Amino acid sequence: MPFRANPWFSCNAAIAGIVMLAIVARPAHAQTFHAVTVEPFVIITDFPFPQAPQVRDHLVSLGERLHAELGLKPVRETVKIYLLKSPERYQKLLLAVMPQLQVGDTQRHGVFLRRRGEMPAMFVLWSDRVGTVLRHEFTHATLSANVANPSIWLDEGIASYYEAESLAAANLYRETLEPRLAASSAWTPDLARLERLRQMPEMGPMEYAESWSWIRFLLSGPPEVRDLLPKYLAQAASDNNPRPLSASLSRIYSSPATPLSDQWRHHFTASSEPSKRSTNSK
Ligand SMILES: [Zn+2]
Repeated sequence: MPFRANPWFSCNAAIAGIVMLAIVARPAHAQTFHAVTVEPFVIITDFPFPQAPQVRDHLVSLGERLHAELGLKPVRETVKIYLLKSPERYQKLLLAVMPQLQVGDTQRHGVFLRRRGEMPAMFVLWSDRVGTVLRHEFTHATLSANVANPSIWLDEGIASYYEAESLAAANLYRETLEPRLAASSAWTPDLARLERLRQMPEMGPMEYAESWSWIRFLLSGPPEVRDLLPKYLAQAASDNNPRPLSASLSRIYSSPATPLSDQWRHHFTASSEPSKRSTNSK
């Protein structure tokens, strides 16, 4: 789940920074925080964490994959990673930095924040899915370093795709889509609808799952679509109004004999994998 710079954030950024420092430093919390620099990260934890170099290596490796598969440049700036075991401290920190968050947002296991004039920051609650959440949020960090204002579906779709280490481990979203497909033959995926979404609250579980499925279709679908996403991202890096991916896909599948939704459905159903729940990070 990313939060982008906007006027509210800009005018409150300095205040939020002070509050965050207070939470980390105030003796009343009687909590020792640990900060380790493993470039390009500063990892801040509320418990001793000797595995920081392994986390760095894992995320740098993911960055190399994002470069190889999507053409995204590796993150060069320092990224703060707050990795907390205490749910109470985690929620308190999120609300101190982003007071406008809803209670439901603080239940998420991961949040990425980029604000003008501040280091980008990942907030991650320790859990048995911590690796998945770190990969999801780091993908947001990498994409946001390349594309200033990615559309919501694209941002979440790419992060959801790369949060899994392999396609076989990414079945949460498949499990979300399958009942909808089975329940209604009238339902069809609609990328143009996703492209019109502008607010995070519009992204429900179905929207996450469908966004994931479109990224998956673009990266592992028919050969004729596989270069669209890297080309789109390269254009989006310098152009705030790139041609929508739905338009590029519609041009490829302009024949009535090969409608896009049929191509999507064929790819989705043909690539069946054993179900295995993976994550709830956003
Ligand atoms: Zn996300």
